[in-house]
Amino acid sequence: MAELIPLTPAGANAPQEPFKAGACKLHPQTMCPAFGALRVLARIEGAQPAMITDTGCLYGLTFVTHFYAARKSIIAPALGTAELSSGKVQEAAAAAIAEAAKEQNVSVIPVISLCVAETAGLVEELLPSEVDGKPVVLVRVPAYAIHSHPEAKDIALAAVLRRFVDQASATEPGTLALIGEVFPADPLIIDGVLRKMGGRLLTTLPGRHVDELKLVGRAAAVAAVHPFYRQTTNVLHERGVGVVSGAPIGADGSAAWLRAVGTALDLDEEVVERVAQEEEASARGFLASQPLKGTTIMLSGYEGNELLYARLLVEGGAHVPYISTSIGPSMFTAADEAWLKARGTEAVIYRKAIEDDKAAMAHWNFDLVIGTTTLAALAKERAIPAVYYTNILSVRPLFLAGGMIASLSFVRDLLSRKPLYERMVAFFAE
Ligand code: SF4
Repeated sequence: MAELIPLTPAGANAPQEPFKAGACKLHPQTMCPAFGALRVLARIEGAQPAMITDTGCLYGLTFVTHFYAARKSIIAPALGTAELSSGKVQEAAAAAIAEAAKEQNVSVIPVISLCVAETAGLVEELLPSEVDGKPVVLVRVPAYAIHSHPEAKDIALAAVLRRFVDQASATEPGTLALIGEVFPADPLIIDGVLRKMGGRLLTTLPGRHVDELKLVGRAAAVAAVHPFYRQTTNVLHERGVGVVSGAPIGADGSAAWLRAVGTALDLDEEVVERVAQEEEASARGFLASQPLKGTTIMLSGYEGNELLYARLLVEGGAHVPYISTSIGPSMFTAADEAWLKARGTEAVIYRKAIEDDKAAMAHWNFDLVIGTTTLAALAKERAIPAVYYTNILSVRPLFLAGGMIASLSFVRDLLSRKPLYERMVAFFAE
């Protein structure tokens, strides 16, 4: 049975010691990070992944990939102890690639090299660069080097972009490429606002087709709205595409982002300013009621966009003292972290562990926990309203005033469910 954490922290009336993260960060507590890469690559129409790993990894990763609707087979060699100890990894990889090339309608073969193949030594130079005219792209995502599944998505997208991004064609002025697995309505809303400024959205990655990968090279600028797309952004930056950091999040963030996009796309300053102010005014109109005022919310996830959600909650009036995420810190997380810490956030934990989250739950009294399944279960045992971040919040619009209003209205509804949780705990205590 799970160890119980007191509802009221010890010495709640006394001044509290600052929160200290205590868990070891050398062992990431996440599902196999390679799943992120597999998910991005399996969704590309015409991409036929060949996965080079041992049978155990293959079983687990095939299971989760199909659970998330891959709708295609993952080609893999049978690599057991005998094959590995006799140094057959290279031959096995070549055979799997040849097999993948025989599938119907294949336009690219991503070769996903995992812990075992990387440790045994897979030599890129000995792999074919194409088979029957089908490009072969090596994607190295061993868990000992890539610590979270969002970061594996970045490695995968960067690898295929390096091969496909179209450098030869001319830049289309005023166009923006968006990078991030966003709710489908978000790019449409962003495109609508960009058009009011005189620009437009060219494409959103990770895409569903190789043509979208080629198209991104024609964008005048790229905006990675999720902070872990660092290698992908670098690939485009090296090819001369302008980079906009941050995301159109909340009242402060949306206006600043629109101005930055306007500058990067060289749009009319007056028009951009008018649209940015309109957007900010409609966000502030909603925020005037401070829908989350007086609440304390805990945010913990492994998606990599937790700091963005935390900003919305804070603008909505909530106190968000603790945020944890699976990704590592970078220059793309620095601005959001500084913004949050200037507004009452005490701890931002990168490469989190469940021990950090449990310690935070003992340290503060939360009215709502938005977290992983394990954490949400612990919170529910204590009658705290709790939801699973990935399935509940990450599948809703987030950006600009419209996304903010949708997300905060939903969180306000979650907070109102406290009596239900108390009844549930009382029922099971009887
Ligand atoms: S050994 Fe590495 S690749 Fe295989 S399942 Fe574990 S973390 Fe993933």
